[in-house]
Amino acid sequence: MEDRYICPECGAVLPAGKTCIEDFHQMLAWETEDQRLGVVHHLMVPSYYIQHPSLYSPEGLRWAHRLLANFAEQDLSPEEARRRQRDQVDSSQRDWKIKGTPESHGSYDPPIAWTMHASDVTARGMAHYITQVRTWAKSICDTLRAAGYLDA
Ligand SMILES: [Zn+2]
Repeated sequence: MEDRYICPECGAVLPAGKTCIEDFHQMLAWETEDQRLGVVHHLMVPSYYIQHPSLYSPEGLRWAHRLLANFAEQDLSPEEARRRQRDQVDSSQRDWKIKGTPESHGSYDPPIAWTMHASDVTARGMAHYITQVRTWAKSICDTLRAAGYLDA
């Protein structure tokens, strides 16, 4: 029996029986347990979704790339991040959907070789959560930029 699992979306190599969504839920649980960790929530969610692009529509994925680059390169407070996200997500202001469907969703062709995955964030434990999420978000921006998905 195969003792490891490779995530079809982000390429993370995980122990058999584990999937990335468990890491996502772990991160959300930590943010709930210690609300100070919520200062990186606005980085964590798009980071996870960008690495699992079928969660987004094609337009939503492009929007998320710009959003994360914007957030990762500025030291925004959670309130400011929420305000900006709300402005940009307000559904009355846009005529496209953020979420992917089985028929229409984001993807990368060729696949992107990410340098860091959700499992790397959780592996370091709750004590390093904030630093790890910031490093993860930055690594995603660097990788996207190198692959031509963000403007230089
Ligand atoms: Zn994954």
